[in-house]
Amino acid sequence: MKTIAIVPAAGTGERMGITRKKPYLLLNKRPLLYYTLTALDSITSIAQIIVAVAPGDERFCQQQVLEKFHFKKSIQLIPGGSSRQESVRRLLERVPDDTQLVLIHDGARPLITPELLEQAIAETRVWKATVLAVPVKDTIKSANDTLQIEKTISRERLWAIQTPQTFERSVIREAHQRASQEGFIGTDDAALVERLGVQVKIVMGSYDNIKITTPEDLVIGEALLKNRKR
Ligand code: C5P
Repeated sequence: MKTIAIVPAAGTGERMGITRKKPYLLLNKRPLLYYTLTALDSITSIAQIIVAVAPGDERFCQQQVLEKFHFKKSIQLIPGGSSRQESVRRLLERVPDDTQLVLIHDGARPLITPELLEQAIAETRVWKATVLAVPVKDTIKSANDTLQIEKTISRERLWAIQTPQTFERSVIREAHQRASQEGFIGTDDAALVERLGVQVKIVMGSYDNIKITTPEDLVIGEALLKNRKR
C-alpha cells in the first residue's frame, strides 16, 4: 500500500516565547524537525515525505535541515496555512493520486520512534483510520468560567491523543473537504474523520512521544533522548 507521510510544521511556536521558529529549535544540537524526518525517513513503506513550513521559510528549512543532514527519501517543502488544519489541507492536495495511506505526523513530535510508525501503518491497513494515544494519567475535571469545578470525568475511558494519525487517503480527503465546506475546525485530524461516522482505532502510543509546546518540553525532550542513547 503506497504510503505518504505529511508533516505539518508551519506553526509559529508562540507558546515557546522565542523568536526562532519551533521546527528549528535545537534538541541536543539538532533541529526538532531533523528528528521527526529521520524517524519517517527510516520507514521503508513510506514513499515520500511532504512538509508544510511557515510561508517564506522554505529556503531556510532547505538549508538548515534538508541540506545539513542526509535523508534518503524525497522530501518536499510547501508553504503551510494559518492554522494546523489549513496546513494539513494544503498538504493533502499534494499527495499523489495513487496513494493508499496518508500518515500525518506533527513536526513538533520529534521523539516518535520507527517502531511506533510501523505499528501505526500496520494497524491502518486493517482499520482504515488510526491514532496513537496513551491513557490519561492525571485526573481530569471540567470547570466553569470562574474556575469552579463542574464535574470529574472518569479517567478510565480517557486517552491523550498524539500523532501519527494515519488514514486511507479517500477517508482523510473527504473529512477535510467536508470540514472545510461546513466551517468545522477540529483540534486534530481524527475529529474530522469521526464526523463522517468512520470508526477511528486507537493504537497504543508512548509517553515519550511528547509534543514540544512550551520551553520545559525541550528540557524533557533532551532528557528522553539522552536516556534513549544509553
Ligand atoms: O499548535 P500545535 O502545537 O497544535 O501544532 C501542532 C503542529 O501543527 C506543529 O507541528 C505545528 O508546526 C503545526 N502547525 C502548522 N500550521 C499552523 C499551525 C501549526 O503546520 N498554522
